[in-house]
Amino acid sequence: MTILQPAVFRFAPSPSGFLHLGHAYSALFSRAQAQALKGHFILRIEDIDTTRCRKHFEEAIYEDLNWLGIKWEEPVRIQSQHMDDYKKALNKLNDKNLIYPCFCTRKEIRTEIEQSGKAPHGPDGLIYPGICKKLSACQRQEKINKGQVYALRLDMNKSIELAEPLFWQDVSAGQIKATPEEFGDVVLARKDISTSYHLSVTVDDALQGITCITRGKDLFEATHIHRLLQALLELPVPTWHHHDLICDDEGNRLAKRYNALSIRELREKGHTAKEVLAMAGL
Ligand code: GLU
Repeated sequence: MTILQPAVFRFAPSPSGFLHLGHAYSALFSRAQAQALKGHFILRIEDIDTTRCRKHFEEAIYEDLNWLGIKWEEPVRIQSQHMDDYKKALNKLNDKNLIYPCFCTRKEIRTEIEQSGKAPHGPDGLIYPGICKKLSACQRQEKINKGQVYALRLDMNKSIELAEPLFWQDVSAGQIKATPEEFGDVVLARKDISTSYHLSVTVDDALQGITCITRGKDLFEATHIHRLLQALLELPVPTWHHHDLICDDEGNRLAKRYNALSIRELREKGHTAKEVLAMAGL
């Protein structure tokens, strides 16, 4: 007898500002998929970036979702309380010799790129020119002993060699070949927060048993990296559903157009939850 895995969907906002119409759309999109499959809908607070995230924005997320009538299953996973999980994942990659410390400042990276006369770009911006990859174990240790702070980068070439070929399945885009090499040696642990969006989202989606990752098309490219990390960390592979970003009649992203208009402001202006959902096209 096959035991069917329950469908698990999530909404994973970062508490770095108030939720806007794009978030309402995304949360309801995920919840609708969960309901259609009689699955679970959970909420995750992605608050690892302590420079941008604030507790009062987290409180506002609960309040706004409640006001909109969007219910989630407890417990809520709060990423900043699970740094050990990200550390374990980094250790695993380190054991496979796939990460290296990077001591570079932004300025050093810029200078190196200017001097080389080449500035290759990936989906996330400039590709890291590999300065710290060339350091010997001794040189690394010396810098660490001197107290120099460092980020941890993924050695993309080695990683691809280990994992290729990789594909992922997107409900709207079909089967996609993963091309993480376009990003170069991405940062997996930032100097200031010892993890990163790419690492923590991949670890959490696996730990929480997410079966279909629903999020906006603005994060489509990031999935190339997440698929690679799953392979390297030997995690289960879900499907993805990158939904359209809500647009106005002229095709502009609503989130941008209504930049200043958070759900909370709309509520304070006297709109009902039903009206706000209708503005998000729901
Ligand atoms: N925390 C991310 C954001 O608010 C979303 C991450 C995801 O859905 O994968 O943009």
